[in-house]
Formats: sequence, C-alpha cells, structure tokens
Amino acid sequence: MLDNAPKLPPEIARRRTFAIISHPDAGKTTLTEKFLLFGGAIQMAGQVRAKGEARRTRSDFMKLEQERGISVSASAMSFDFRHYRFNLVDTPGHSDFSEDTYRTLTAVDAAIMVIDGAKGVESQTRKLFEVCRLRDLPILTFCNKMDRESRDTFEIIDEIQQNLAIDVTPASWPIGVGRDFIGAYDLLHDRLEIMDRADRNKVAESIAIKGLDDPALALHVPADLLAKFHEEIEMVRELLPPFDRKSFLEGHLTPIWFGSAINSFGVKELMDGMGEYGPEPQPQKAAERHISAEETPVTGFVFKVQANMDPKHRDRVAFVRLASGHFQRGMKLMHVRSKKPMTVTNPVMFLAADRELTEEAWAGDIIGIPNHGQLRIGDGLTEGETLRFTGIPSFAPELLSTVRALDPMKAKHLEKALTQFAEEGAAKVFKPMIGSGYVVGVVGQLQFEVLASRIEEEYSLPVRFEPSQFTSARWVMGAKEAVEAFVNVNKGHIAHDSDGDLVYLTRLRWDIDRVERDHPEVKLTATKEMM
Ligand code: GDP
Repeated sequence: MLDNAPKLPPEIARRRTFAIISHPDAGKTTLTEKFLLFGGAIQMAGQVRAKGEARRTRSDFMKLEQERGISVSASAMSFDFRHYRFNLVDTPGHSDFSEDTYRTLTAVDAAIMVIDGAKGVESQTRKLFEVCRLRDLPILTFCNKMDRESRDTFEIIDEIQQNLAIDVTPASWPIGVGRDFIGAYDLLHDRLEIMDRADRNKVAESIAIKGLDDPALALHVPADLLAKFHEEIEMVRELLPPFDRKSFLEGHLTPIWFGSAINSFGVKELMDGMGEYGPEPQPQKAAERHISAEETPVTGFVFKVQANMDPKHRDRVAFVRLASGHFQRGMKLMHVRSKKPMTVTNPVMFLAADRELTEEAWAGDIIGIPNHGQLRIGDGLTEGETLRFTGIPSFAPELLSTVRALDPMKAKHLEKALTQFAEEGAAKVFKPMIGSGYVVGVVGQLQFEVLASRIEEEYSLPVRFEPSQFTSARWVMGAKEAVEAFVNVNKGHIAHDSDGDLVYLTRLRWDIDRVERDHPEVKLTATKEMM
C-alpha cells in the first residue's frame, strides 16, 4: 500500500476485494469465468455462462431470480490466485439496479473496468465509473475482444481519458488488429504474449524479452507488425504517462491491458496486475472513526441482503464486508443497531457454484450470514464497540406505484412480502398515513415486474402494481417541532418508510418548491444513510 501505511498481517495483505464493472456484452461474465478457472474455483469454462446469458432478457431474468442459487453464488466469489486471495463481488448487470450496484461498490477496494475494443466507453460503463470515482476506487482497465476488429489503440485510450477524465497508462500493448492480432507486449514485465487461437482455454505462450531492442522480438513478430509496434511504442513514451502506483491507488491513473477474455488472453496478466498493484484491504468509514484492516477486533458491515435463496428454507443471507480482524466461526459479535449479541455459527463463503461453511475469514473478505431478518443493509457487527458504518446511502426512488393483492384476504401476506423486499433493498415501501395500502418505489420499471413475479413465486400471492397519484418521495428532516407542524398540515402527503422514517410524497415537482418556501425549517432530502 502507500508507503506511510502500517504493514498489514500477511493474511490480510494478500487479499484483493474488487468488482468488475462494464456495459452489458463487453465480456464481464466471460472474464469472471476465466478468473475462476485460473483461480482453480471451476474446472471448466462455461459454468458461469448460463448466468451471463440469462441477464439478457426480462423473462430470463425472472428465471434467474427463481434459480436464485445461481445468482447468489455469484454475489461474492472467493478464490486463490498465486499467493493472493481474490474476493470478486458481483455487480448486478441491469441499469435498473443501480442502487444495488452502488452499495456493492461500497464493499470493494478496487474495480476492473471491462470495455469492448470495438465499442470503447459505453453508457453503463460511464455511469458505473462515476460511482467508482465518488469513492476514489483504483481502477484497472481490460480492453476486451482484441481478437476481433477493434478500434485504434490510441483512439481507445484517448476516449477513456477524455470521457472519464482519468489518465491511462498501457500495461500491455496489442500487436496487430482483428485477424492479424497475434498478442501483446507486456510493458510492465518485458514479456511477449502470443495468443493461441486454436485452444481458447490455453494461456498464451509467454516469451521473456530483454527490452524492446531485443532481436528475439523479430523471431516472433512479423516484420510489418513489428515496425508498426516500434513506432507506436515511441508514441506511447512521448504521449502517455508511465505507470505510477500511487496515482493508480488514488484513482487518478488506470493501467490498461489489451486481451481477449474468451481466448484466455491477457487475463492472467490482468490478475497479476490486481495482485501486484491492487490495493490491500482499505480502511472503512464509520461515523465515529476510520477502521483499519489491521485492528484486532472483528468489525464488518452489511452491504447486501438476499432473501429466499433457497426456497426450501426461508432464510436470508446478509453479505458482510469484514473491515477488520480475524473472524472465526462461532464468534459472538454485537449487532450494533439492536445492541444484541449474535453468535455467527454458520457463516458462508462462496466458491463459484457452492456455498460453503467457512471456518475463518479476514479483513477484506465477504462472508454471508444466514439469518431470519435481523440483519439489514447498513448494519454493523463488532466485538462490542458502537460503530455506525457510513457511506451506504439509500436513494429516493424514481418511480412509484401502489400495490394491491388480488385476493383481499391476503393483505397481511402482502405486508410481509413488502417488508422483506424493503429490507433486502430491492424496493422502497411507504405506508401512507391516510388510507390503506402501500406505495412502492423503485429506480427502474423492470423492478416492478421482478417484484410482482417474486411475490407470486415466493408468497404464492398474485399482485397488481398500479399507477400512483404520487410521483416522487423525499425524506423529511428537521427539528422535531417543525417536522410535527409540517406533518399536521400535509397528512395527505405523508408516509412512513420501512424504518419508520417520515417521507413526503409529492404529486408535482412544484410540491417540493412549495414546501421549501412554506416550511424553511424542514428539509426534504433525496438520500438518507442506511444505518
Ligand atoms: P457480459 O454481458 O459483459 O457479461 O458479456 P459476456 O461475457 O456474456 O460476453 C458477451 C458476448 O461476447 C458473448 O457472446 C461472448 O462469447 C463474447 N465475448 C466475450 N469475450 C470475447 C472475446 O474476447 N472475443 C470475442 N470475439 N467475443 C467475446
């Protein structure tokens, strides 16, 4: 880590916790699969494939939701690579799930940005990149699909620099394009990597080279490609910054590798890059103080809750990022919100398709804790200290609907289902002060459909989402008396969220302006911290 940082215990120092961000189709699933393959977590490429493909369409997504085992196994995967322990945290693919993605990115220390060499920076890449930037996450870039016709290398780099306002340094440089692509020169290790087109799972042949003037290069690279390569490297030296670890760790510089995930090309080099240069488990923020990974007491926070993973057991799994310490199975931790002790007897870690009981975990790891609903997003676990982890926001939903059970006798079940989804973070649920029923809020339309299908699947309860008279929601903040006075004259607009916090539901954008004018002492906010 940075030179002035304390030295971490080796078990913690070898951990790399990261996410992969990309626009759909750039190759995230393929890359993940190769990571697992080289990390020894799966035997054959192709096992993760079903999942990636399922992301494509709504109906497939539903099917995926039903087969939740698969999607969950992919929520956080741990595997060893060389002497490193990688924790790869999955980000949901669809843009409708951006809040979930945002929270996932609070649990990682770095991100890999995958772009398609023919398409460059796409809309979803940009959005996710912005979230990484808010957290100053170091980013490694993988330019994928180099086996196909791709854009000019300088053009791609330039686009990243211009579009994302980050410096780019090539970690490798491609030789040849499209059908003439033969491999890449590893600029960080002076190696020539030659791609094998015949066997997709075969790792490239690696040839050590003594600098760019080594005559050995000519033995492996056709003369015309070699001349162009030398020319381009001259330009790289002139135009692009060299690799600088500090700048990378601060999120100002991204090293880029050129490869082809499907051909297993460039993947190991990227993994090496994550291991060698990637950040060790970083300090985590709580309202009281920063928690450093090397602190001995175990602390961690819930960043994701997934319910009904196994239809036979109505359990939920809370995903906890360990911020510090050495966790052991059977430990008694304090659940900070309720101040109650909690013995963690069956923690799980996810190795590709299996979820396994884990005996121990260290700062930086992600563990799943099955529970019956005590653990919510934003909750902290400690060995007794009161720590409120921060930085896990809840956003005001952009779409609101009312929801009704088609069988009115089952209103209680509906309430239970909605409470569960609210706690999972899958939707916002508001109970208006006046009248019956609920208002449900989400970020994207697709979520209503997924919710309806899950309520029917998991609670055997057909429901209908209908347009709401309200269009947006704001949390109400301010001094107690001012808020009470405000609530009294606006009862028709007031609701409680699932934490019991007050929410103002608006019909028109103008409503918010009016409140701000008439009640200057009340604040309406579009985000709140979950804790
Ligand atoms: P995701 O949506 O980002 O998870 O993308 P996938 O990993 O599912 O890949 C999208 C498509 O691109 C699939 O058809 C892959 O087979 C293909 N693909 C992935 N990597 C490569 C590559 O290196 N070269 C080529 N030609 N195709 C690739």
